[in-house]
Amino acid sequence: MQNFILYLSYLIGSITFIVGLKMLSHPETARKGNLVAAVGMTIAIIATIFFYTDSDGNHLSNYIWIFVGLIIGSVLGVLMAKKVQMTAMPQMVSLFNGMGGACAAIISIIEIKHLIHHGGEPSSLILLTILLGLVIGTISFFGSMIAFGKLNGNIKDKTLPAQQVINLGLLAIIIALIIVIIGGFTGIALITLFWCLLIISALYGVLFVMPIGGADMPVVISLLNSFTGVAAACGGFLYDNPVMLTGGILVGSAGTILTILMCNAMNRSLVNVIVGAFGGNKSGASSGDSAAGGAYKEISLSDSAVLMAYSKKVVIVPGYGLAVAQAQHTCHELEKILEEKGVEVCYAIHPVAGRMPGHMNVLLAEADVSYDKLKEMEEINPEFSQTDVVLILGANDVVNPAAKSDPASPIYGMPILEVENAHHVIVNKRSMKPGYAGIENALFFQPKTSMLFGDAKKVLQDLVSELKNM
Ligand code: NDP
Repeated sequence: MQNFILYLSYLIGSITFIVGLKMLSHPETARKGNLVAAVGMTIAIIATIFFYTDSDGNHLSNYIWIFVGLIIGSVLGVLMAKKVQMTAMPQMVSLFNGMGGACAAIISIIEIKHLIHHGGEPSSLILLTILLGLVIGTISFFGSMIAFGKLNGNIKDKTLPAQQVINLGLLAIIIALIIVIIGGFTGIALITLFWCLLIISALYGVLFVMPIGGADMPVVISLLNSFTGVAAACGGFLYDNPVMLTGGILVGSAGTILTILMCNAMNRSLVNVIVGAFGGNKSGASSGDSAAGGAYKEISLSDSAVLMAYSKKVVIVPGYGLAVAQAQHTCHELEKILEEKGVEVCYAIHPVAGRMPGHMNVLLAEADVSYDKLKEMEEINPEFSQTDVVLILGANDVVNPAAKSDPASPIYGMPILEVENAHHVIVNKRSMKPGYAGIENALFFQPKTSMLFGDAKKVLQDLVSELKNM
């Protein structure tokens, strides 16, 4: 009976993960999807605590440790989730992802000790699963911690001489060690090689993320996420736990699909990502390198308001600056006023606008902007030529034409919002400073572009009052 309840709750858990994941794919159902999966996970955890028995029929006994851990983790999780700024979300994702990787590695450490204590010849498949859990979990933990430090601004991009060779060398050593360990070591030799594998995996995790930065960071976060999923699936296989296996496989495959989609979107190959050869230092190398330059022109608040009020179609491009200024509600207000004046308004959403995938969708959803007004890049790009005014709010890299025209640019190959095809472009930011990739933007110097300087929230508030007075 206990086993029946346990496996039924695992089945419920697995189904809720799949349903939850499906619901996460649309902003309208995403919150509920998250809740559905969380409820399934809670059921699976409670069932494991009270109904799981090992091969000798023993229940878990260390309830105090389990519940103290659960309470501390839950309190910390809730506090962090409530406190975190939307703009610091990618760091938080990295941190939580790293914790998952660390758990998978700890499972492998515990299980190798069990194997050694119980003596006997472990099956190669079990040993391989333990080693893969260790390697992938450790790389994910250390890589995520470096990603956290970089996104937080505590760690700078760094590339060693012959970085690619070192990374490939470390990967080769990891594979060789796995083969050697499975080849038949036991006791102290096994545990020594096991710790060596852990140290080299940790080093690889650090060196693999260290040189990555700039526009490539979202890809690496998504890749590390998929690593954690695979490492968790190894744990599920070891413990013969179907819900852990399903959860791990879902996270692993979703992360891999997202990574491939992002690689395609940013014109990078996955192999390039794995050997840590892309990104970061390229943006560092070109920062301050003004391929664009020249003169730019400014526009006043009242002229901007008039231009938009007498337009047929206005497309708003939200970016990181809008999130920093917390101007989403005022932006929604501007949209409503323009619509009252008969202007068609929609939002152009770039996949890596802001600092995490889906950042702009979440931000605008918070301000009750209707989902059907959010247009993805592929959908909106052909519409710019029929757009009277594009209003860019704190976006920079995602509208930088260098991505299409300058092979030397660190963002070359990244698809962008082709705003330059519109009749007028108004850019709101506080200065001429570059965005995340650290490069100048030729768009700001084009004849049809006008700069509207100021904090996004203040500028939007003033635009709203101008429009109200018209
Ligand atoms: P950018 O970082 O390119 O530019 C943001 C601009 O906002 C800056 O140029 C800044 O200019 C302006 N800004 C800052 N604060 C304000 C404010 N209060 N009011 C008005 N403007 C402000 O942002 P994008 O969204 O265009 O591009 C995102 C970048 O982040 C890409 O390079 C992407 O690859 C990267 N990235 C994305 C992630 C994701 O998953 N979405 C994750 C990690 C990185 P100024 O200082 O002059 O005001």
